[in-house]
Amino acid sequence: MKKLVFATNNEHKLDEVRSILQSEFQILSLSDLSCTDEIPETADTLNGNALLKATYIHQKYGFDCFADDTGLEIDALNGEPGVYSARYAGANQNSADNMCKVLEKLGDNIHRTAQFRTVIALIEGEKTSFFEGNIKGNIARFPRGNNGFGYDPIFVPENYLVSFAQLSSDEKNKISHRAIAVQKLVQHLKHIH
Ligand code: IMP
Repeated sequence: MKKLVFATNNEHKLDEVRSILQSEFQILSLSDLSCTDEIPETADTLNGNALLKATYIHQKYGFDCFADDTGLEIDALNGEPGVYSARYAGANQNSADNMCKVLEKLGDNIHRTAQFRTVIALIEGEKTSFFEGNIKGNIARFPRGNNGFGYDPIFVPENYLVSFAQLSSDEKNKISHRAIAVQKLVQHLKHIH
């Protein structure tokens, strides 16, 4: 069976991709490669960071490989936190601090539209492809819900009355930015192999 590396150690993301591709691909994670390197994420775009991660693994181990990067883009904050979503409030801060910073910066602004965007970079031999998924929504005035992670408690998807953190993981995974990008990757892999 063809081997493909997903440059992540996030078990949830791995399960999601493995369950869809299990009959066609053996999906290896970074821990399957015993890779504990700090892979650089120093680009200033999601595409750039996804490509940095995929290139690093491809060059070091020689496998075909893909990697993802995600950001929350808030229109009234000129696309912030974007590529800096994981460390918006500072390198040692957590998700609660990141959400606080967003809510403080937005204040009473009535323009609260935003989107989550995921980019996947795939390297197959000499060829590089990108797949993107996004979901539009609004930033709530305060956090709600306990499910999910990151900015989920303050993100209300378009046409919903509840935040991502108030949806079950099954419900979120049907509509999320990451699910859309993964589906595009899967369609590509199923068609060309
Ligand atoms: P990553 O590229 O998947 O590691 O995501 C970078 C950062 O974006 C994470 O540390 C979270 O703060 C945020 N993020 C990514 N995906 C989600 C999501 O589905 N819900 C909420 N926050 C997310």
